[in-house]
Amino acid sequence: MSSVVHAVAFVVAAAVLCAVALVVWRRRRERTVMASSMGVVLLAAAWWSLVDAVIVVEPARPVAGIAALSTFPAIGAMVAAFVCLGLSMTGSGWRPGRRLLVGLAVEPVLVTLVVATNPWHLAFYRGGGAATLVDPNSWQHGPLFWVHSAYSYLLIVVGIVLVARGWSRSPALFRGQRLSILLGALVPASLCVLNLVGVTGDFGDPTPFGFAFMAVVVAVAIVRQDVLRLAPVARDVLFATISDAVVALSPDGRIIDLNPSAERILRVADPDLPPALVGLPAEVALAGWGAFDVAAGAAGAVAAETLVMRVVDGRRIDLAVRRAALVDKRGRSLGTVLVARDVSAANAQNRELAEQLRTIELLRRDLAEQANRDPLTELHNRRFIMERFGPMLSRSDPVTPVSVLMVDIDRFKRVNDRYGHQVGDDVLVAVAGRLTDAVPPGALVARWGGEEFLVVLPGAGLTDAIAVADRVRERCEVDPFDVGQVAHRCTVSVGVSSFPVDGLTVVDLLEASDRALYLAKRDGRNQVRSAGPELAGAPEVTSWTAPGAG
Ligand code: GH3
Ligand code: MG
Ligand code: MG
Repeated sequence: MSSVVHAVAFVVAAAVLCAVALVVWRRRRERTVMASSMGVVLLAAAWWSLVDAVIVVEPARPVAGIAALSTFPAIGAMVAAFVCLGLSMTGSGWRPGRRLLVGLAVEPVLVTLVVATNPWHLAFYRGGGAATLVDPNSWQHGPLFWVHSAYSYLLIVVGIVLVARGWSRSPALFRGQRLSILLGALVPASLCVLNLVGVTGDFGDPTPFGFAFMAVVVAVAIVRQDVLRLAPVARDVLFATISDAVVALSPDGRIIDLNPSAERILRVADPDLPPALVGLPAEVALAGWGAFDVAAGAAGAVAAETLVMRVVDGRRIDLAVRRAALVDKRGRSLGTVLVARDVSAANAQNRELAEQLRTIELLRRDLAEQANRDPLTELHNRRFIMERFGPMLSRSDPVTPVSVLMVDIDRFKRVNDRYGHQVGDDVLVAVAGRLTDAVPPGALVARWGGEEFLVVLPGAGLTDAIAVADRVRERCEVDPFDVGQVAHRCTVSVGVSSFPVDGLTVVDLLEASDRALYLAKRDGRNQVRSAGPELAGAPEVTSWTAPGAG
């Protein structure tokens, strides 16, 4: 290659390196340490390339010798920066400490002193021209050169190991970034070794071209893989520690990454899953998660939360799953991210709470029912009747009658006195039963108080009501109450009133039936009386008096 072409190639390589250094510098904001380290490596490489251009063009002048020696401070800075680059990839928040920086600065300072004084001691470079700083290509390596080289390669190996370790450990999504940096760094390092061992021959030092290649790879990694913006390490910690399960799927529906929570849930649900879940089709890894349609998630940006459920060993696992499309800066689809929250405990609590609410509601209804019932006879009580009777009347039109029976057990005190209170109670229960049997469906039967009962007969006119009342009265008269050891004969008196003839309000109807009951008692008990005709002074109302009563 002619020296001019050779020199131009070195200058072009230097320009490429400077351009990429500029790109890195402009994007330094989010990952400053990584960007600064990259910048130093690139600028040092650019310097190296320019030095080689000078050596090619003017080998016989001292400027070539000075240029050749000046590469070594740059190389010292470069390897130190490369170690920092490797370390910055192990932790996004990593910053070089002062001791590390001082430690890394020692060798570049020493090598600067050594190369600056080389013409006097010739311990770094020796041979023709080394003392007069001309013709650097003919210089031979002195012992201090090898010390410097050994140190530099040690640091380069350390840096490569750090990057390689990061690559092998990084999640699938970030491997590309790391691999780019790794391959980019390996190329110039290998070319430098080849040059050192003399393989490159007349071609001269190819290392700057290796660096130019590295610069292109770095530029691609920055633009395409967002190496200076996406921070895999901070994300690693987050990804690894959050309790939510995160699964990243490729556009063709394969798992490209998942966090430990996701792995744990998937393995609990399906212990037969293969050891490596990355690469597995989603329909295999997520099989059995109910209506969970993975493919549906790939299209939309952020879908609403989907609830999925699975029962594993009798234990129910509920997951609330969110899907988000994973796109790069240019909107190209990189796949889908699924974030699942285990809501089993919350759902179980909700179910328990709902169960408790149901129980409370049943208890409330039971209590309300009890408040409306008479505990002895289990008939409705006065309170209930009063609540219902008013609305029932207000719904009635004047042509639809409603009748009321006020039923009172005759001489009930005597039952108590003769047989005891318990027998009295049993008779009360038995009368309640007979009343309930005698009334038509839709009638209200209540214990009004003591040994009095109230019956409301919707739709029944006076005649029908009297018929019902007389049925009850007759049944009590002829059919003794079989309570305790003996059968007790017990009659009832009934006062009947009817809407609208005896009154239009609850109070009026109750008063009318009460008055009618009074008449029944007055006329000898075991009677049915209505209010209206008596009040009007009509004697024929006694026509349903029981035979032999009075
Ligand atoms: P009349 O024919 O005039 O109605 O006479 P009576 O004895 O039935 O009427 P009175 O009002 O004098 O007595 C009612 C009795 O009913 C008095 C009370 O001891 C009894 N009684 C009221 N409530 C109960 C109850 O829950 N159980 C029992 N065993 N007796 C009751
Ligand atoms: Mg009585
Ligand atoms: Mg009474």
